[in-house]
Amino acid sequence: MQLPIYMDHHATTPVDQRVVDAMLPYLCEKFGNAASSHCFGREVRSPCLAARTDVAKLIGADAEEIIFTSGATESNNTVLKGIAEGNQHKGLHLISCVTEHKSILDTLEYLEGRGFDVTILPVDSDGKVHPDQVKNAIRQGKEGSTDRTTLVSLMGANNEIGTLHPIEEIGSVLSDLDIIFHVDGAQTAGKIPFDVKKCHVDFLSISGHKIYGPKGIGALYIRDCAVEEMNLGPLLHGGSQEGGIRAGTLPVHLVVGIGMAAHLCARDYLEEENKRLAELRFVLHEGIKSFTNVTLNGHESDRLPGNLNLTFHDIDGELLGLGLKDIAISSTSACSAGSAKPSYVLTSIGRSDDEAFSSVRFGLGRSNTVEEVEYVIDRIEQTVKKFAKVAG
Ligand code: PMP
Repeated sequence: MQLPIYMDHHATTPVDQRVVDAMLPYLCEKFGNAASSHCFGREVRSPCLAARTDVAKLIGADAEEIIFTSGATESNNTVLKGIAEGNQHKGLHLISCVTEHKSILDTLEYLEGRGFDVTILPVDSDGKVHPDQVKNAIRQGKEGSTDRTTLVSLMGANNEIGTLHPIEEIGSVLSDLDIIFHVDGAQTAGKIPFDVKKCHVDFLSISGHKIYGPKGIGALYIRDCAVEEMNLGPLLHGGSQEGGIRAGTLPVHLVVGIGMAAHLCARDYLEEENKRLAELRFVLHEGIKSFTNVTLNGHESDRLPGNLNLTFHDIDGELLGLGLKDIAISSTSACSAGSAKPSYVLTSIGRSDDEAFSSVRFGLGRSNTVEEVEYVIDRIEQTVKKFAKVAG
């Protein structure tokens, strides 16, 4: 076993060596621009199509329904700004939820500043939004009024506490009402089985680096490529690439990388690996529970298999961190780290500020072993004991 141990697979994942191998020829050898009509362009078009097909297959979509972006942040911005602005003649009301990622919440705040009306739904103590909450928040104002809901945006799985929203039920409510449904799938696609058609999703954001692919690439699923029907405009102007929704030269090596990452997830990791991760999580949780008082954050069963988020009641968060220096775990989401504020996800499920500061997210992934989990349990036990001595 090697130190340090990486147990923060929600923040990012290492690139799979098979993904690296697939990408390398597209840096020097096959460097063409996919939009060029000559042979250099032609030779990179079919690998891009193959990658689009692989990403699409992962979520039950067709290749034409996928556009490539720089990551889930860009995909989220594209949908929220594009749909809100493109449909303002129909309505100004948007719905989301308090535990969303900052790339959703900050974008909605920006839209609020530009005159949109945003409802942020609370979550229950497990971090879930219920279909009835969404139903009750929907506005269907009178004909000609702008007091209508045009878009609901919810995450498939939470990046801090792992809770899964009931996306399929919510999707069926929204499709009956003809309201656009966006799902931030950065922690969902490639991590758990997810089918956009079954869930009635209109848009799904995907991130390459969360699924053992490269950073700087993501994707956006657009149902039936219905860009005009849904009034989606581009975030970036400047070219006709990606159906006019995402201007800019395709980064072929990254596209090939996310394609291979998606292919490997779908082929090898969505079933057996998830069972293995859930088992590791169980061992970790039981081990820690056996010597100290902790509360599980997030839903007990409807959660990402590799996510364990615990509030430690017998030890201060900072002291715990000191004792676990050679273990990469997270006390908050990487995107909010350094903010010196308690996690808004944890406070929104009812944890106090102190409890939130004494909480830790373990993000188990492909590299983690039983031996590592046992080492982590042992280190936490030693740290808790040491602290108890200091306190006494
Ligand atoms: N949404 C969620 C739920 C995330 O966890 C993240 C990454 N932390 C993002 C969006 C942003 O993804 P990216 O890094 O690909 O922009």
